[in-house]
Amino acid sequence: MDYINVSANAKINIALDVLGKRPDGYHDLRSVMQTIDLKDNIYIRKIFTPKIKIVSNVRFLPTDERNLCHKACKALFDKYNPDFGVYIEIDKNIPVSAGLGGGSADCAATLIGVKELLKFPVSYNELLDIGKTLGADVPFCMEKGTMLAEGIGDRLTRLTDHPPVYILLAKPNVSVSTAKVFSNLVIEDIKRRPDMEAVISAINRKDLKAIAENLSNVLETVTIKEYPMIEHIKRRMTELGALSALMSGSGPTVFGYFENKENAWEALKQIKSEFRLREIFVSGIS
Ligand code: ATP
Repeated sequence: MDYINVSANAKINIALDVLGKRPDGYHDLRSVMQTIDLKDNIYIRKIFTPKIKIVSNVRFLPTDERNLCHKACKALFDKYNPDFGVYIEIDKNIPVSAGLGGGSADCAATLIGVKELLKFPVSYNELLDIGKTLGADVPFCMEKGTMLAEGIGDRLTRLTDHPPVYILLAKPNVSVSTAKVFSNLVIEDIKRRPDMEAVISAINRKDLKAIAENLSNVLETVTIKEYPMIEHIKRRMTELGALSALMSGSGPTVFGYFENKENAWEALKQIKSEFRLREIFVSGIS
């Protein structure tokens, strides 16, 4: 085998709560996270010099040491000093700096792909630990599915699979820095927190309406203050038939739950033209 293709799926945060700030600067979170169909494809080929070469279809994405795929390779190369190297093509579909965890997903896929391709004797649990050092969401992106994430987001408990639903993802044409959103969050000012027990119980019952009623994210107020369009898109989604809509992660992407496929596509057409969006998709649960 001299190449491998790995899927790097995006995530949404169905519920996201921030409990406090830790002495190391990170925040303690509780979040129900869900893998979705929207994905990047990571193509990895073995090359005969011990180098890491990255290309991508997104012009502005760094392809040097700053790229999370590069960091993933470097972590493994430093440990195993291979005679071979890798050439990686990132075929990006997940919007960047969007709250959809695209960078963490690419990082997770690269760890899994490079281990497999270069046959590094690293156990899956060790790989999860390496992932954790590269980004709090990387272990979730390796594990995939429906999970409760705690701690800095890296302590995972698998939940019952989420019932099927059509998800409309709409990204306003702005990029949001996760670090900036967290630094602007005043924990004492949080008024409405997600009811995690209600979310988890709704998922256990596969009760889509109850899940939709409990979508909640404490970071919304911070990002919406800067980009009110997020609130307008949410409202438009529900007017166009979504059971409910929410901002994912630190934003700015809004996702809406639709029971009906035609409805979701009709809403996509409307919202795309009304808000002049470039990045808008219908996806499913994965
Ligand atoms: P999260 O929801 O986890 O906060 P996000 O969706 O807001 O993530 P990402 O798209 O994961 O944000 O990436 C944010 C930053 O990471 C950008 O500044 C980007 O340049 C950098 N980055 C490095 N490697 C990648 C990659 N392979 N794909 C996307 N972004 C990357």
